[in-house]
Amino acid sequence: MKPKVILRHCDTYDPDIIAQIIGEGMEELGVRPRGRTMVKPNTVIAHQQFFPHAFTRSEFLDGLLAAISSRNEDISELYVGERCGITIPTRYAFAMAKYPSVLRRHGVRADYFDEGREVRVELKHPDALRDFVLIPEGVDGCDFLINAPKFKAHPWTKVTFSLKNYIGIQNDAQRMIDHDHKLHTKIADLQEVISPGFIAIDAIIAGETTMLTPTPFPLNLIIMGLNPVAVDSVCTHIVGLNPKDIDHIKITAERGYGPIDLDEIEITGDVTLDAAQKRAQEMRLTLVGVEEIFNEKSNITTYVGAPPDTYDYCWGGCPGSLFEAMQVIKQYQAGAYDEIKPLHMVMGAYEGDIQPGPKERVLFIGDCAKWDGKINGEQISIPFLYEDRQLKNPYEATSGDVVVKMLQVMGHIIRNRGKQVIRVSGCPVSVAEVVLYCSWLGKVANPYLHPKITFAFTYYWVISKLAQLLRRFRPQPTFSR
Ligand code: SF4
Repeated sequence: MKPKVILRHCDTYDPDIIAQIIGEGMEELGVRPRGRTMVKPNTVIAHQQFFPHAFTRSEFLDGLLAAISSRNEDISELYVGERCGITIPTRYAFAMAKYPSVLRRHGVRADYFDEGREVRVELKHPDALRDFVLIPEGVDGCDFLINAPKFKAHPWTKVTFSLKNYIGIQNDAQRMIDHDHKLHTKIADLQEVISPGFIAIDAIIAGETTMLTPTPFPLNLIIMGLNPVAVDSVCTHIVGLNPKDIDHIKITAERGYGPIDLDEIEITGDVTLDAAQKRAQEMRLTLVGVEEIFNEKSNITTYVGAPPDTYDYCWGGCPGSLFEAMQVIKQYQAGAYDEIKPLHMVMGAYEGDIQPGPKERVLFIGDCAKWDGKINGEQISIPFLYEDRQLKNPYEATSGDVVVKMLQVMGHIIRNRGKQVIRVSGCPVSVAEVVLYCSWLGKVANPYLHPKITFAFTYYWVISKLAQLLRRFRPQPTFSR
């Protein structure tokens, strides 16, 4: 039997209508959640004013939970689990996404992965990047996963649907490991951890261009299925791309997780693929590197060389961090691209000249940056610090706490005051760190210190830290796969 992908029209965030559509989809696919059932939305970042289209909407979650609850004969526990991105406490992201009232209404608990423990899961595929990964106990202990991502463009992976939503099943420190030019393989590796029992994608208002700060694009669709490769392949065709050109879809298909060819997939529902493609015709994706985005269009000049291995651009790492970081800052200072003080950002094995003005800062971003030459008459030598991924031990990965990052970045800038050239190490250098370097060195808005953010952010950060402290007194998890 061909895996089925259902395309349903939905032009409203009315939870009752969403519940009706998803319920019909579950019936058609024969979905019966059982045991410990976890819903995994995408709340990589959430805020009603600054990031309103980056996350699975609360109304969608509301409708989904209603549809699940009406089929809960075999569910022993229902919870919503997630780790949001860029070191923000997931509690904060859930609150900003307006999830708590929805969860209360359905009697469902939140599982904030960043507040729980991690469990080791062995990876068996011979081409996996490593032998094991660490994942939150809430993921390991789940019997039935419902994947509920947002339909978005993505500057690192071109698109983000159900497969890419698995990046949120790891905590910050683990998530950053292999989040580089091998990001697509990492996404494929994570599929080994758990298979979804049901996929429902919020494509009612899709996200264009970026994943943290997308502009809204009304696609008026709910997309459902059981097989993640089939679902993502159809979604990729909807935005006019070939799924064989999206590496994480291609790799998971090659590893046998599902079909990538349309003639091996059955598409049903009240919207044809052709009609869905017409709806998405004008949807903007980001398919270009940072040189094209910034150079001569902003006060940032980028110099990008190749990352290690045989790649010519690090799609999963530092260049994408820079783009997302500036997009985040732009939410708080609309003219940031032009108003930022001139900065020169160098990544990878760049081999050309770098010619900043006398007082313009040059940042060598990432461990794989290397360069030798003269800047304003001074000989500069930037050594290659990149460490082979096999030498990175997940147990030694350090926490990505945002306050620690702030102090580290501030200390680094103070230690380098008066110097024109700064080396920023990391693989990758995270979006949060690039935001901080850009805002402090470029004298533009710092989102973490914005008056509309700071109070609530600090409140949820403290609660999250207390919860992390209390987990030490809980018994060790007993699950294991
Ligand atoms: S340092 Fe940055 S650019 Fe280099 S491989 Fe790592 S993530 Fe990619």
